[in-house]
Amino acid sequence: MNLTEKLASERRLRLAAEHRLALKSRELFEANKKLSEHALALSNQIVEQREVVQTVRSEAEQLKDENQRTQAQLLQAEEIAQMAERRLWDSVETIADGLAVFDSQDRLVAANSAWHGIFDDSPAVEIGVPLVDILTFAAQEGIVDIGDANPSDWVSFMLDRWDQPQVPETMLRLWNGHYYRLAEHRSRDGDMVCVATDITALKQREEELSEARKTAETANRAKSAFLANMSHELRTPMNGVVGVAELMLEGALDDEQRLYAETICKSGEALLAIINDVLDFSKIEADKLTLHPAPFDLEHMLHEIIMLVQPTARDKSLNLHVDYDTFMPTHLVGDGNRIRQVITNLVGNAIKFTPAGHVLIRVVGILENDKCWKVHVTVEDTGIGIEAEQQQRIFGSFAQVEDQQNRQFEGTGLGLSISRELIDLMGGKMWVESEKDKGSCFGFAISLPADEEPVEAPLLLERGISRALIVGGGELDNRILGKQIGQMGLDVSLAESGSDALAQFSRGHDPHVVLIDLRLPDTDGEELAKVLLRQNPAVTIVLIGHDLHVARTVPDTPGIHAVLPRPVLRSELYETFETIPDPSTAQGRTTWADSADKASTAEDASGDQDGGEAGPRPMRVLAAEDNKTNQLVFSKMLKSLQLDLKMVADGEEAVAFYESFEPDIVFMDISMPRMDGKEATRKIREIEAREGRKVPIIAMTAHALKGDATEILSCGLDHYLTKPLKKEGIIRQIVDACPAECMPPQPPPPEPLTDLAG
Ligand code: ADP
Repeated sequence: MNLTEKLASERRLRLAAEHRLALKSRELFEANKKLSEHALALSNQIVEQREVVQTVRSEAEQLKDENQRTQAQLLQAEEIAQMAERRLWDSVETIADGLAVFDSQDRLVAANSAWHGIFDDSPAVEIGVPLVDILTFAAQEGIVDIGDANPSDWVSFMLDRWDQPQVPETMLRLWNGHYYRLAEHRSRDGDMVCVATDITALKQREEELSEARKTAETANRAKSAFLANMSHELRTPMNGVVGVAELMLEGALDDEQRLYAETICKSGEALLAIINDVLDFSKIEADKLTLHPAPFDLEHMLHEIIMLVQPTARDKSLNLHVDYDTFMPTHLVGDGNRIRQVITNLVGNAIKFTPAGHVLIRVVGILENDKCWKVHVTVEDTGIGIEAEQQQRIFGSFAQVEDQQNRQFEGTGLGLSISRELIDLMGGKMWVESEKDKGSCFGFAISLPADEEPVEAPLLLERGISRALIVGGGELDNRILGKQIGQMGLDVSLAESGSDALAQFSRGHDPHVVLIDLRLPDTDGEELAKVLLRQNPAVTIVLIGHDLHVARTVPDTPGIHAVLPRPVLRSELYETFETIPDPSTAQGRTTWADSADKASTAEDASGDQDGGEAGPRPMRVLAAEDNKTNQLVFSKMLKSLQLDLKMVADGEEAVAFYESFEPDIVFMDISMPRMDGKEATRKIREIEAREGRKVPIIAMTAHALKGDATEILSCGLDHYLTKPLKKEGIIRQIVDACPAECMPPQPPPPEPLTDLAG
């Protein structure tokens, strides 16, 4: 090969090489480019990862810090917890009470030294020991005084307590005389926490207190007995004072003397009322008050009370009303005197604290079983009322409402306290409802057996009596009266005045019965009765008085059937209506104008009674009384009677004169010198047993306290009268004992207190 060729070949080779180089360069370039891209990506990745690493590292740093902080806090918390536990146990250790914790298997898990001290720090009571072993140890070793109980019984008893949902507290007495109260409580985790409190000092104080209370009660009873005896002793001279003043009032006195005597009488009676309150109060305090149940008439009693208080009520222009439950019996069995005392006190207070309006006594009965009635008695007034916060206080002894309004009234503040005690004693309860300036309602409820069948209202319809008219009278009274008349099946209408009644008559359809108030706004009740009877002679008239003191004499006018006092006694109303003539028979009766003759005939008939010869002898009355004043009072009280009276000064004289004087009745004081009334009575009864005769012996005593009637009557006395003696009481005994051969002692007839027209 030549040079050119060689050159050409070399050139080709070089070109080819250059081409390949160029290719390779390009490839290299591409590869470089990729490499640099990759390197870039890598470096980006590295940067990113470096950032992540950075973040992670800083987070790790933070976590490390936090971890360190948490660890520090944990350490601190642990220290606090340990300190708290230490403090808790230090505290638990310092308390005097024994404290122990048992787990749910009843094994001891913790206890303070006081707890261990109870067991004398015995190693038998250590952590992990079951309760049953601890109890057995305590019982057998005599640590707990279990008295006569069997140790295993006692252990069972103690274990049983823990099975109850609420472990009951119990008290343990230890061998050394210490007392512990055990209180246990099951925790949420089933542990039992036990606290044993040393109550030795408390027990001692309790015993001392109970001793002191007993001593105080004995002293109080002695004081009350002393007070009761004192009050009783006070009654005797007061009896003299009041009795003599009453006697003076019976004689001729000028106005001034009368005023003095009346003042002595009123003041004496007021003092006696206070003494009686104190006596009752003391008897209750001294546990010496006993009840004496006997049959009594409740409705009648209410009317006697009204009779007593009506003058005071009338002076204050107060209306008194009684609303006695229609079907309730009036004859009941209970201590009538005490029930009367309570009602009198409530009614007396109601009148005292009521300046205007009315006082209403309401009796409602609910049949509890076939004989016993739950009797509710309420006394309602429209008086000054009592603030709510004072209402319970006033039932306390000597408690009165203390305000200006109340202080103007006199009183001991004992009445309600005695009343509540009496009602408590009867097994009942007493209450008050009141509103200041509106009025009060005091009430009590007691269970009383009935002494009669429930009362039945007479049925008048069968007899053709179906319409009644009430003329005049107050609204409340008429409502009560209307209810009672309605119960008998009658239609009731009301008329306010005489002219109103006449207007109703002229409309025809006359009533069969007309109840007319004696005092009407426009006319006199009796006058209206006559006018109505002239219009219709078949009508029956019942006149109603303005109070209980009204004269009950029925005017001699045909058609006027009765005069009833106000408030009208339910039983009396029924009796009156029962005897109302049937309208058919009433039709034919004579008019009032025809009746004048009858009156004079009746007078003639009665005028002939006196004037026989003086055949019978006067009654012989023997009275034994050591007190000179009382002797005088007694003989003066009987002055107006035709009697042969012999007064003696002691029991011995009484026995002696019993034989020589041969009395028809003996009045016997109980406390007398030389021989007391009980001894004298015994001796007289011995004489009588020998001679075969018997006269009534009546005790005169202020001894309301010692065994009361029962003891006196057991000595052979027939009755007893309490001092201050009342003239009517003595006369009643004499009249009852008057033998047939004696002339009647003839007490003068009582003067009518109020005349019809008022
Ligand atoms: P006394 O009436 O002798 O003060 P009580 O025990 O009967 O004693 O009554 C106690 C007090 O209760 C009275 O002083 C009076 O303040 C109050 N009180 C009793 N009854 C009534 C009543 N009907 N209205 C207003 N206050 C009354």
